[in-house]
Amino acid sequence: MSTISKKICLIGDYGVGKTSLIRRFVDRQFSDKYLSTVGVKISRKSIELSDSEQQKNITLQLLIWDIEGSTKFKGISASYFQGAKGAIIVGDVTRPESLENISEHIKAFSKVNPQGKTVVALNKSDLIDAEYLEKYCQLYSFSDNNSFVSTYASSAKSGTNVDEIFTTLAHSII
Ligand code: GDP
Ligand code: MG
Repeated sequence: MSTISKKICLIGDYGVGKTSLIRRFVDRQFSDKYLSTVGVKISRKSIELSDSEQQKNITLQLLIWDIEGSTKFKGISASYFQGAKGAIIVGDVTRPESLENISEHIKAFSKVNPQGKTVVALNKSDLIDAEYLEKYCQLYSFSDNNSFVSTYASSAKSGTNVDEIFTTLAHSII
């Protein structure tokens, strides 16, 4: 069995739920209070993945980078992205303008990491109807970008699709 570490980043507008998704995935918790992130915080979480080609299990340690809320993608410095193998791009389904910025966030990440992979999380899915979620998932798929893997409707509150987002990204980067 071997262990490898990979850096991934959470990217998205202020208040979309980046810190909450990490907290749900790493600590299995959710808080309604606003969890302000000061500067950059790095969380670690190891997951087991099976490598079907080599028929062995791999322990992947994710180094999950979380950044203080920024409303403009231009404000995120390239050093935050540097060395990352993947990113989770987060939007808030109750704030359409945060969804419109997703494609710019993907481009900014891909520019620094052309080989990197991205998964889109349309977060706070517990707050809107399922029919809208389906539409949003279709609308916010970016098959024209090489880094794009897939889009999920997620909820850090209920836990829906949170593990799926992280494990899908993990599989795509090893
Ligand atoms: P960040 O700025 O992107 O890190 O956003 P936070 O994780 O701090 O979340 C901002 C606010 O949205 C907080 O009040 C959270 O409790 C709330 N929030 C985050 N994710 C969800 C979710 O999936 N559903 C609901 N209902 N609220 C959420
Ligand atoms: Mg935060």
